[in-house]
Amino acid sequence: MSSEIIVLNLTEKSTLKDKVAELLPDGGNLNLCLTCGACSSGCPATGLENMDPRKFLRMAALGMDEEILKSDWPWMCTMCQRCIYVCPMKIDIPQLIYNIRGARPREERPKGILGSCDMALKNDSCSAMGASPEDFTFVVNDVLEEYQEAQPEFAEMEAPIDKQGAEFFVNQNSREPVTEPDEMVPLWKILHLVGANWTYGSKGWGGENYCLFLADNESWEHITRTTSRQADTLGCTTYLNTE
Ligand code: SF4
Ligand code: SF4
Repeated sequence: MSSEIIVLNLTEKSTLKDKVAELLPDGGNLNLCLTCGACSSGCPATGLENMDPRKFLRMAALGMDEEILKSDWPWMCTMCQRCIYVCPMKIDIPQLIYNIRGARPREERPKGILGSCDMALKNDSCSAMGASPEDFTFVVNDVLEEYQEAQPEFAEMEAPIDKQGAEFFVNQNSREPVTEPDEMVPLWKILHLVGANWTYGSKGWGGENYCLFLADNESWEHITRTTSRQADTLGCTTYLNTE
């Protein structure tokens, strides 16, 4: 454990915490912390950057906005929601963290997440790798043909794209068609063996939504609407998110 001393400037007011509280129902209960530590005990990001959710909330409550904005810890939160789940006061720490991410200028947010979000905005695939609908269609058909020929028991297996009236709209990890195309096949086999009526979409097949983790609301909405619109256009009744 670090013995770093935190110096408080108690003349400051927490503007960040108060602003986030205004956005949330019941203020996200952000002022109700009992300091019990339950949130920190189950948080996968506890200990990273010498931080944990209880400490983070305390810093926000003490008005340490500058330190909070400078910290990279909010970007290590997985948004898993364990903290709010175990919190006796149901304090919405994930929303506090999300909005603090959003308070950092977009171009200064972590490059990996930023780049993946921007890639997903490049075309209608919504793929974090930037793969186009045409490239995806080519790879899927190519791999399918290969397996149909090599494994006669799967000669009838399908990997449909834009199949009208399919029950399940299935999305796909973006890396697989680009770097590990064979990794797509086990799911196809399962869907084939259970007789599922499914399809990918040529639009919105990319399963990740890095724009959500970037706290870029507009882009997050764009990705979500592109994929759900395609599912609706095809008449699919169930959206199967593999990510
Ligand atoms: S679990 Fe809730 S009440 Fe307990 S320290 Fe964490 S935020 Fe505070
Ligand atoms: S949502 Fe973030 S802060 Fe809360 S438990 Fe998960 S990783 Fe930790």
